[in-house]
Order: sequence, then structure tokens, then C-alpha cells
Amino acid sequence: LGERLQATMDRIKGKGKVTEADIKVMMREVRLALLEADVNFKVVKSFVNDVKERALGQDVMTSLTPGQQVIKIVRDELTALMGGENSRINLSNKPPTVIMMVGLQGAGKTTTSGKLALHLRKKHNKKPLLVAGDIYRPAAIDQLQTVGKQIDIPVFDMGDKVSPQEIVTNALQHARDEHLDTVIIDTAGRLHIDETLMNELKEVKGIAKPDEIMLVVDAMTGQDAVNVAESFNDLLDITGVTLTKLDGDTRGGAALSIRSVTEKPIKFAGMSEKVDGLEPFHPDRMAQRILGMGDVLSIIEKAQENVVLEDQKALQKKIKDQSFTLEDFLSQMDQVKTLGPLDELIKMMPGANKIKGLDKMKMSGKEIDHVQAIIRSMTMEERENPEKLNASRKKRIAAGSGRSLQEINRLLKQFTEMKKMMKQMTGGKGKKKNPFGGM
Ligand code: GDP
Ligand code: MG
Repeated sequence: LGERLQATMDRIKGKGKVTEADIKVMMREVRLALLEADVNFKVVKSFVNDVKERALGQDVMTSLTPGQQVIKIVRDELTALMGGENSRINLSNKPPTVIMMVGLQGAGKTTTSGKLALHLRKKHNKKPLLVAGDIYRPAAIDQLQTVGKQIDIPVFDMGDKVSPQEIVTNALQHARDEHLDTVIIDTAGRLHIDETLMNELKEVKGIAKPDEIMLVVDAMTGQDAVNVAESFNDLLDITGVTLTKLDGDTRGGAALSIRSVTEKPIKFAGMSEKVDGLEPFHPDRMAQRILGMGDVLSIIEKAQENVVLEDQKALQKKIKDQSFTLEDFLSQMDQVKTLGPLDELIKMMPGANKIKGLDKMKMSGKEIDHVQAIIRSMTMEERENPEKLNASRKKRIAAGSGRSLQEINRLLKQFTEMKKMMKQMTGGKGKKKNPFGGM
């Protein structure tokens, strides 16, 4: 459907003037796209009406085609609906900051507690303490201990014989004694919301006086996630939401509905099972994702942490106009080593959801070393024009790099496939089919 929407947008883009009928056609597609992305139908309805109104009342901007203008309104409205800007986590200036994690069983509370601790240490220089407040689920305490060990963050537990209320009281004292400035409380969940759980959470809230009550919801559960968010918010007055499992193929429509139903900001997005798989939530990027257009900005941000932005821009341009060479591939390798797996990076690009065989892109650190050795044994000319690599050149490269001919052939094949993928992702020669292009 993302494709259908795009086709409609392309069609409109080609015209000089956008008519009421065009807007109608387009909004029908937008409506379907949103419903397919699992946005609540009531939210969709009011959204579509808002956009129609705005689109019709607008003067045509000279810098945009009418089609682009409508798209811009759709994107802006989607972004606004999710809170506009990234909302940061509440940190207290009177330590310790207390963060209480709540949510249903399996939503990702324990995992996110660890991720958040790591994030706060890395980005905010905090010294977090993780508190094992889930005494019901077998092995929940062990799970948190394991997470803590993995990232070298202390975990406070009192076993499963003491009430969560008492655990939290003691944990707060412990944090003060140890000068730990951030307390993250992992609480118990249930499969469904029930009164016993809610009462316990209310009591824990009364004791912990949290600066942040972070509701963790599983994006894959779609509409259920919205109902869960509504109930938790009614009972606990949450202050923020983390949407987990956005790395799956869910398009994240829950994000839209959750925000409009609870009026609480989504602050973080869980992007993998790993401890570093937490990202600040950006409504504008989510808006694009919901519209099925990939999350280029997130890729750039991820890259920015390790790479000079200019390099990245140049790379993106190369990917776009298909002049990506083995030489670029070589310089990417070092970055890939620090950025994380290439396949994960590629998954975030526009159109990546259409691509099969991404697994083939996985490379271990050792494989990367080998690939680098091979490319380094090529002349610059060969790196730019791999089609020139005949048998005798390959033999020379094999000798130079100490790798086998098969390996060289495999690399060339992989590289060709990668270029093919890039082509698929950017929608063919130069003509990028992104309706936001040039805006
Ligand atoms: P809890 O019951 O709420 O504490 O949930 P857990 O933290 O134990 O997580 C439940 C499952 O979801 C685990 O297998 C996690 O690895 C997984 N999980 C949590 N967050 C994410 C995420 O952002 N992406 C993915 N793919 N898996 C996640
Ligand atoms: Mg848990």
C-alpha cells in the first residue's frame, strides 16, 4: 500500500495544480496507509479531516509543487500528532532521579531498564542503579542481574520474599548511601491488566515518588498497545512511553494512537534486543516511517556518532546516484565495525522492507578484515571499476592479500548484490521516488 500511496503522490506531483478531487484521492490513500499501519480508526478519521481542511485552505507555496505541499501537510500533521519534537526523559536536579518502569509482561520492561541505564550513563553521565521489583515472574531477578552485569551497572535485589514496596524503600536508601544518582525500578507485569497489579504499582509509586513513570509498550501489539496505554495512564498517570520492538516489521501506527489517546509523549524507541538498542523517539521520523518511507534521518544520526557528517552525506549521495565503488566500500568497513552490523543499518533505509536476502549482508569482524585486505590489494582503478578484474588481476590480488580466489569472487558478488540493493532502495537511476525529496 505504501507503493500505492506513493504512486498517487507521484501522479499528483507531476501536475501543476492540486484540486479538491486530488486531495480527496490522496487522502483516501493516506487513510488506508494509516489504517494498515495500525492507527486507531478514530484517530485516522479526525486526522484525515484536519489535513483536508488545511490542504484546501492553503496558499500554494512557490517552492513546492501542490502535491509536495499536501505531502508536507500530511507529514507535519502526523509529526504534530506525535508531539512534534523529541521529549526527553525527566531528570531531577535533586538526586536520585527515580524512574519507574511499568507495563505488561513481555513488553520489554526489564530489557528497557538496562538499555535506559546504559543510555543515561553514556549520554547524561549518570550513575544508575537498577532495582529488581518484579518478584513474581520466575527468574525475573536473575534476568535483571544478567543485564546489569552485561553493562556493568549495579542491581539492587532482595530476593522474591520481600514486597516490592519494601524493596523500593531500601533501594532508595541504598542509592543515597552509594551516591548513585538515578534509580530505575523494574516492576512486575501481568498478561492482562488487573487490580492487584495496579494497586501494587500505585503503592510503589507512592513510595518511590518517581520523576518518570515510563510505560513500556510492545509496538507489535498494535491496537492492544493503545488500550494498554490508556489503562495504565488512567491508573498511574504515566509521564512517558517507550515503544519497543520497532525493529520488527510493524509500521508503528501504535505510536500515533498512543500519543493522541494518552497525550503523553513517547520518549524512546526500542530498536533491538541488545542493550544498545534504545533510541530517542523522533516524531518526524516516525511520521515518515508510518508513511512507509524509511528512516534515513535515524541512519544519519547513528552514523554521526562515529563518523564525520560530511563523509556520510557524500556516501548517501553516492548511494543515491549509484556511484558507490569498492573504494567507498573499503572506507565504509571501518565505520561498519563501529556502527554495528551493516544489515541493521540497511534495514532502516527507505524501501529496505521490500528487500529479501538481507541476512547475506552480515559480516563478522574477521570477514571485514579479509575484505579490507582484498580491496587494499587492488589498484585505485580496479576499486572504481571492478568489472576490469580479469583472472590475472584476481590472481595478483589473491597473492597480495593472502586470500583465495574464491574469496575474491565472493566479495565481488556480494558487492554487486549490495549495489543492486542500494538501487532497489533508492528506487532506480537517480530518479528517487521519495515524494519528500527536495523539501
Ligand atoms: P518484561 O516482561 O516487560 O520485563 O519484558 P522483557 O524485558 O523480559 O522483554 C521481553 C522480550 O522482548 C525479550 O525477549 C526481549 O529481548 C524482547 N525485547 C525487548 N525490547 C525489544 C526491542 O526493542 N526489540 C526486540 N526485537 N526485542 C525486544
Ligand atoms: Mg521483566
